This record gives sequence, structure tokens and C-alpha cells, in this order.
Amino acid sequence: MVNPALQHPIFGPEIHCPHCRQLIPALTLTDTYLCSRHGAFEANPDTKELVHLQSGRQWRQWEGEWYRQHTHPDGIRFEIHEALDRLYTQGYRATRVIIAQRYQELVNAYLERSAPWRGQVDNSTPRLYGLPVEFSPSPEEEPRWNVINFNLEKEPGVPVRYPYFRLFE
Ligand SMILES: [Zn+2]
Repeated sequence: MVNPALQHPIFGPEIHCPHCRQLIPALTLTDTYLCSRHGAFEANPDTKELVHLQSGRQWRQWEGEWYRQHTHPDGIRFEIHEALDRLYTQGYRATRVIIAQRYQELVNAYLERSAPWRGQVDNSTPRLYGLPVEFSPSPEEEPRWNVINFNLEKEPGVPVRYPYFRLFE
């Protein structure tokens, strides 16, 4: 008797397609999932990634959600831009973005740094879309940072109705 768990790819007998979110089945005795709209996705048991065979796009999973793994700086910048738009339409504004450490090398050249002024050493925080950027703790410290791409810190976008100093009186 074969252990039934061994007959399924690492993500189980069915997954939600990362593109259209419909439930798609694994093909028997393979590592492949087949979406009727988006074609074949292959689970890689070594990297724990799901790969779209047609495009080469890769995802990792955290708490049931797929996170696209970027290999080009434009990919992650675009995803952050979309998330900022979404926050704004929900009535928030972002105050800081924390980007996964594994993208540090990829995005470094694209961050905004204010020009050194009168020969002073520039220690200012790098920015992206005007937002201060920090990099995440290592995945050894916080495993989710091996999967998720970034986190936006936010505050309500509506005007504050009383002065901040009141909070400290
Ligand atoms: Zn699909």
C-alpha cells in the first residue's frame, strides 16, 4: 500500500491557481497542476516553489497565499506600486515599506537617495516612490520573509482632528 500523501505534489491534491484563483487539481502521480485557463504549473519539492511552465514565473506559499517571486527589479517595484494604490483607495497612506532581505541586491540600484550636500556624507534613508525603505529581518529570524515580498506600514489618510502634542499631555 502506497502512502497516499506521496501521490500528491508538495502543495496537496489541489491548489488555487495563482493567476485566476480557481481550484485546480494535481495530475495523478506527477508534480503538475493543470488550470484550464492558464495551463500547467509544476511544484518543485526542493525549492518549495510553484513554477508556471509557460512563463517561468515562480511562487512560494505562506498561510495559503501565493507570493510571486521576482527576478527583475521592475516586478517588485510594480507590485509595491499596486499595493500603494490599493492602500490609497482604502483611505490609508503608507509611511514605510519593508522589503524582504533577499531582494536587497536586486532593488538597491533603484532606490532614491538624496544627493550628498556640501560634501557631507549622506546617511539618509533610501526611498522608493518617496517612501522610506528598510529591509526585513533574515528568514532565519522570521521565516515568512523567505516567502512574502514586502510589507507596507500605513496610517489613516484622513486629516488628524487634534494636534499630536495632545497625546503627550
Ligand atoms: Zn488559472
